Amino acid sequence: MSDEAPKRKRIFSGMQPSGEAHLGNYLGALKRWVDLQDEYECIFCIVDEHAITAGGDPLELPRRTFDLAVSFLAVGLDPDRSTIFVQSDVPEHTELAWLFNAVTPIGDLERMTQFKDKAQRFESVPAGILNYPVLQAADILLYKADAVPVGEDQKQHLELTRDIARKWNAAYREDFFPEPEPLIGKAGRILGLDGDAKMSKSMGNTVPILAEPDEIRARVRTAVTDPQRVRRDDPGRPEVCNVFTLHGHLTDAERIPDIAAQCRAGTRGCVDCKGILADSIADAFAPMRARAAELEVHPERVREVLEAGAERARTIAAETVSEVRRAMGLDWRHAAPAGKS
Ligand code: SF4
Repeated sequence: MSDEAPKRKRIFSGMQPSGEAHLGNYLGALKRWVDLQDEYECIFCIVDEHAITAGGDPLELPRRTFDLAVSFLAVGLDPDRSTIFVQSDVPEHTELAWLFNAVTPIGDLERMTQFKDKAQRFESVPAGILNYPVLQAADILLYKADAVPVGEDQKQHLELTRDIARKWNAAYREDFFPEPEPLIGKAGRILGLDGDAKMSKSMGNTVPILAEPDEIRARVRTAVTDPQRVRRDDPGRPEVCNVFTLHGHLTDAERIPDIAAQCRAGTRGCVDCKGILADSIADAFAPMRARAAELEVHPERVREVLEAGAERARTIAAETVSEVRRAMGLDWRHAAPAGKS
């Protein structure tokens, strides 16, 4: 009997470099990624080539990329166990995306809900917005990931990735790419402090994970609560209040029934309730702030992690692309002698 440990399944996940991560990134993805490291071989990527499809200032992008890398390490992504790198450091991502364009019907891309939403914001829609899910498919399949942690809003893109894998395999080489499974998280959609839109930096409805406690309190004070509570002693409905939902993610579980009961009875005001939430967030983020402060003093550690991660990623990526190119006939050195094909 072999003593060899069974090979761990591989997952790939990416995040756009919007700078320092925020509460929504943490609850919706990063917290889970940290846990997944125990079970899977993880590849975590800062997808800066996806970010350029949204425009933005090229002078800011490197800083945002670096700051997100700091957040990755601050929350506990561990470079000794996981591969952490920046997408544009591995050119095979864009190469494979181009090769996948050969098997991806335009109609499939036009049907993507995110494409329809994003396209409305442009007078002239950049092709990158349409092809975004092809690059996502390349990100994932380049590493032959077995599974991908996704939120509900990414399920459709992962389905397309599976379709592309199937189509490419059927056209060029059977069973070459796996069809990655979705790992749907339990956190669900994290609403912003406005209680309405998804939590995101661009909406200004979130809390940065590295914010100081005073800033956290100031931000949480702006959170929208149950609109029926006008006076402090009005009975409230925790089930419709996003502050209560956030308590569920961040406050000690044994305190939750009391918070709900006091809300319903009108014995705890929303200002107090938000104060408890702010303290829970500040406590949860305290170790991350400490780790980030250390990395700010030693930025070379972040650079080393990203360089080493890119090197590991490139080794896998180069092998995949070389086989894909060959299967697609993009290797004239292996041309059969004339008359022998
Ligand atoms: Fe929401 Fe808390 Fe106010 Fe109830 S007391 S409405 S749970 S903020």
